[in-house]
Amino acid sequence: MRRLLILPGDGIGPEVVDQVLRIIDWLRRRRNIEFDVVNGLVGGAAFEATGSPLPDETLADALDCDAVLFGAVGGPQWENLDFSSRPERGLLGLRKELGLFANLRPARVYDALADASTLRGDLVAGLDIVIVRELTGGIYFGEPRGVETLPEGDRRGINTEVYSSDEIRRIARVAFELARGRRGLVHSIDKANVLESSELWRQEVQALRDTDYPELELKHMYVDNAAMQLVREPKQFDVIVTTNMFGDILSDLAAMLTGSLGMLPSASLGEATGMGGRRGLYEPVHGSAPDIAGCGIANPIAQISSFAMLLRYSFQLDEDADLIDSAIQTVLAGGLRTADIMRAGKAKVSTTVMGDSILRGLDNLAA
Ligand code: NAD
Repeated sequence: MRRLLILPGDGIGPEVVDQVLRIIDWLRRRRNIEFDVVNGLVGGAAFEATGSPLPDETLADALDCDAVLFGAVGGPQWENLDFSSRPERGLLGLRKELGLFANLRPARVYDALADASTLRGDLVAGLDIVIVRELTGGIYFGEPRGVETLPEGDRRGINTEVYSSDEIRRIARVAFELARGRRGLVHSIDKANVLESSELWRQEVQALRDTDYPELELKHMYVDNAAMQLVREPKQFDVIVTTNMFGDILSDLAAMLTGSLGMLPSASLGEATGMGGRRGLYEPVHGSAPDIAGCGIANPIAQISSFAMLLRYSFQLDEDADLIDSAIQTVLAGGLRTADIMRAGKAKVSTTVMGDSILRGLDNLAA
């Protein structure tokens, strides 16, 4: 049985996760796909109930499941808590304990929303790229680190960019596997003209491609050029693989090509599971949006797309993930919009009506 932990969290988290629960029910009824669903507490909701943003029970359930669907955490009422009790610690703790080393951020522009981008519509219409960011190594974790006072009284801050060949090959493999099911093109982004760690990165990614993925095309690009190319001609990319820090920056840049926070899904993947896929945590890029929580107007598409990624990467249910992606595309092409993506001449709908319409789209596609 496919084991799935659902953690709605705070703010709009539960509202958008509710729309995924309806799709899980649809998959059971219409596609005979069953999940063993466990519900859990995380973030501020967990803190209120147990005193911890990541209760032991939630962590145990997460370790026991193949995949975690995560809503969002946080809110103004918890902002003054000690750092260790903050809702965000729930997410960071899960990522660490589950060993999630690969962060996947797709930037996909549905044709119907091409005008929401800050770039010209023709540059982004049909855009479909994925950034694979290394998540547990690099300069954010490297030692030595810290701020020290020198004998003359001057202060010096230090961080260390460090990658082993194992870490590089592990993340590159995720990117190559992904590219196999797509256009077969990987761009590896580094700064090998200046950094030794990037030189090693480049050598290892190339060596893995040559031995294990000769059918794929691999291009290397310096990070400064990659940033420029992403806004100049984003459709030249398919899969991008890069370090923790470069990925942090480039994935936000790529996200804005799509123009809408309520549409962006993400996945954080770990080692392979017995299900053939990888253990993973799937969540929208947006936060808990306290300003609109409880109003019934949140866009559920980022959460639903995150669930489609879960089907694809943890359970290898590509056909069902494709059905969900197509249903979203159909609904948008039909002119329905939640408030965040509303444009003149379109029909403004609530979270639930967007969910209804995607279910109707699924019914039509599966008919
Ligand atoms: P946010 O993403 O929650 O909201 C930013 C803006 O986008 C808000 O105006 C919000 O209404 C809008 N928005 C976000 N998602 C939307 C959706 N699905 N539909 C419609 N509109 C949407 O970011 P923020 O306001 O900076 O942070 C709010 C809280 O969320 C904070 O406590 C923050 O720490 C937390 N946060 C959590 C995560 C996470 O759980 N992974 C990520 C980012 C922020």
